Amino acid sequence: AKENGRNDYSFYTDDVEHDALHKLTLQHEMMNALQNHEFLLHYQPQYDLESGRIVGLEALVRWNHPVRGLVPPGEFIPAAEESGIIVPLGDWVLQEACRQNKEWQEAGMAPIPVSVNLSFRQFTQRNLIGKIASVLKQTSLDPQYLELEITESITMDLDRASLFLKEVRELGVGISIDDFGTGYSSFHYLRHFPIGCLKIDRSFVQDIVGNSNNAAIVSAIIDMAHNLQMDVIAEGVETIEQVSFLRNRGCDEMQGYYGSPPVPGHRIAELMAEPGE
Ligand code: C2E
Ligand code: CA
Ligand code: CA
Ligand code: CA
Repeated sequence: AKENGRNDYSFYTDDVEHDALHKLTLQHEMMNALQNHEFLLHYQPQYDLESGRIVGLEALVRWNHPVRGLVPPGEFIPAAEESGIIVPLGDWVLQEACRQNKEWQEAGMAPIPVSVNLSFRQFTQRNLIGKIASVLKQTSLDPQYLELEITESITMDLDRASLFLKEVRELGVGISIDDFGTGYSSFHYLRHFPIGCLKIDRSFVQDIVGNSNNAAIVSAIIDMAHNLQMDVIAEGVETIEQVSFLRNRGCDEMQGYYGSPPVPGHRIAELMAEPGE
């Protein structure tokens, strides 16, 4: 139960004068929300393009707000990052994703990795690797069933990124580069980081069929990743035409509404039971 009642501020206002107040309110609400267990995870399947089988899941946070209902992360993750609340929130996401994955395995579901998004702010914590290790130990999840999704923003601190990724790799946890193609970093780091997978950003995948530039970029990313011994996931796949294109170009996996939107954890077992194509 909530001791302090709801306030009268609307969540999202264009009124600049209320911005600072709004931010504080949101931060305060997010802290309460963590304590009141208002956050939950949805999971979006990642499909192998050859077999049509689910070979991975991405954990995506939602806020079950008592007044507003299910709030998507785009509406609170930026504020959580700015205020630092992303650190305890991210800890919870990591813990919950590992706990849930272990629970699925114990229920007899075929073991598959769950990916967790890591924001730049989390990555700058000194004890992050220790936290990851202790969550794995505490949930007794085999490290090969956890993957971390990072963006190219981590290359802003190359030395720390190299060390962190080396330690992640030593733990046995997988690493994917998220939103690939939208960052500003050079391709330099790709050779030096132990990256298992590139996720091609939805903006390139969106019109691979209608836009020959995007088609060329996506093909080039797939070839480059394979030359570097990395897997490739296409994000935001919505149509059968996109699926055919990606299959023809040898893309490994797809994630998108065509396969399934993100769903609550209790729906995963039934999706896993569906036969591949
Ligand atoms: P993301 O990591 O790129 O996640 C993929 C987003 O694309 C998800 O939005 C997903 O619902 C959406 N999506 C998937 N397939 C399709 C499709 O076919 N079409 C379209 N239009 N969209 C698709 P969502 O869940 O709203 O998450 C948005 C972003 O919020 C994520 O982008 C990620 O950057 C961030 N986020 C979500 N959960 C977490 C978290 O636990 N921690 C952190 N740090 N960030 C998170
Ligand atoms: Ca995978
Ligand atoms: Ca992601
Ligand atoms: Ca992404």
